[in-house]
Amino acid sequence: MSAGTADPVRELRRTLGDASVRASAADILRFLRDNSWLSPVHAQSLERRSATGGLLLGVQAVVSPKTEAEVVQVAAIAARHRLPITPRGAGTSNFGLLTPEDGGIILDMREIAGEPAIAGQAARVPAGTIQGAIERAANASGRELPVMTTTYAQATAAGWIAGGHVGLGSGTWGSVWDGNVLGARVVTVEETPRILELHGAEATPLLHTFGAIGLVTEVTFRTVERRDWLEAVAFFPAFEHASAFVTEVSRDRMYRHRAARGVEGSGRPVRFAQSRPLAVRPEAGMKLERLDHVALEVADLDARIDRLCKTGGMRLLRRGFNKRSGERLAMVGDATGMKLELIENTTLSAPRFLHIAFRAGDLEGAQAALEANGWHKTRGPIELAEAQARSVLMNDEDGFELQLLAYAPTSPDIIEWEDEG
Ligand SMILES: Cc1cc2nc3c(=O)[nH]c(=O)nc-3n(C[C@H](O)[C@H](O)[C@H](O)COP(=O)(O)OP(=O)(O)OC[C@H]3O[C@@H](n4cnc5c(N)ncnc54)[C@H](O)[C@@H]3O)c2cc1C
Repeated sequence: MSAGTADPVRELRRTLGDASVRASAADILRFLRDNSWLSPVHAQSLERRSATGGLLLGVQAVVSPKTEAEVVQVAAIAARHRLPITPRGAGTSNFGLLTPEDGGIILDMREIAGEPAIAGQAARVPAGTIQGAIERAANASGRELPVMTTTYAQATAAGWIAGGHVGLGSGTWGSVWDGNVLGARVVTVEETPRILELHGAEATPLLHTFGAIGLVTEVTFRTVERRDWLEAVAFFPAFEHASAFVTEVSRDRMYRHRAARGVEGSGRPVRFAQSRPLAVRPEAGMKLERLDHVALEVADLDARIDRLCKTGGMRLLRRGFNKRSGERLAMVGDATGMKLELIENTTLSAPRFLHIAFRAGDLEGAQAALEANGWHKTRGPIELAEAQARSVLMNDEDGFELQLLAYAPTSPDIIEWEDEG
């Protein structure tokens, strides 16, 4: 407690200005509230502590720095005065993380915010930036955050990496520890604070440590290619069916999803309208019913789709992932029923033929008929989740590949030509 005054609040005011240091009981009480009331254990514990330690729990002020330089100044003052700091984002966490143990100051980090810098696979943001704003900025650049807390509309970047760990998208992309946080800047709490730039694995010890390691002033998140998400509610005859469905969706990486949840209870069925050209086509009886599509490998999927749609009169029916290679794919079709499946292979210098596909309502019957004519099965039957189809791949002696497809009536790959007008 050498430099400055003996009164840390006065020193903070002199350094940051009165507007950034609030010490009224009403202000402090407001910042002691978070979402921990969701837990009866936390709620009772807070009630007990307020009864014995006073309503303000010994907190002297709420300090709101506007820049990283001010965070450094606050850290230095707090360290000199041995004043505990409770950093705070939007206060959405619900585990008692924001209840100070030993008084001190609450550090409101929401003003350390600004425009996200989206570049390549990274989104670099000031600590107090709201996650929803980062997602919007990433979307505008054709990217998205792989994982977001469900409280993304309010929660801050630093609050999530320090207090949260998973969220929407975790089923596919994991948690904060799975490469979704690329780096962070941290101010250490010392009499002479340091600014640490942590990259990649260096940032790991910081994650989910509740601000105990230092004050985060900037976070760099990973971004991934943007998708168009469809929100849907499904009803099942019994909870076990819903549970099995959610388990499958969550485990099989073929299903791209941000969140899947099984809930038991009564509710009104929600019907979801999806805009796409589909129809129920009863197809049965024949072995090979009709040519369905031709599959090609292409080096630049998006450019090829663009060209076929702009100059070939085709339209994009759906996107997906190839079950064999894991690469991106797209199904495009035209008004005559012609369809092309395009599978990305960035190593190619020219498009390459892969297979032709026939529809076969009786998949096993069609397979047997082909086997009797010299074809042999190389794969299947397998479920193609995105196409909502069962598939068998077959080869002849020349290595020519043929696919048999049995579609579910709701498949996005079935085109309703009558709609074309
Ligand atoms: C209904 C509900 C749903 C939720 N869903 C999820 C979910 O899907 N996934 C999930 O992970 N969490 C979830 N949470 C918890 C919480 O909302 C998130 O973790 C959120 O990201 C916290 O962000 P925040 O800005 O509100 O942080 P705060 O709640 O303000 O703080 C969280 C922690 O981070 C520390 N901290 C804040 N800012 C800094 C900083 N700049 N430097 C150092 N430390 C700092 C705080 O001291 C605290 O320990 C949920 C909570 C509720 C109530």
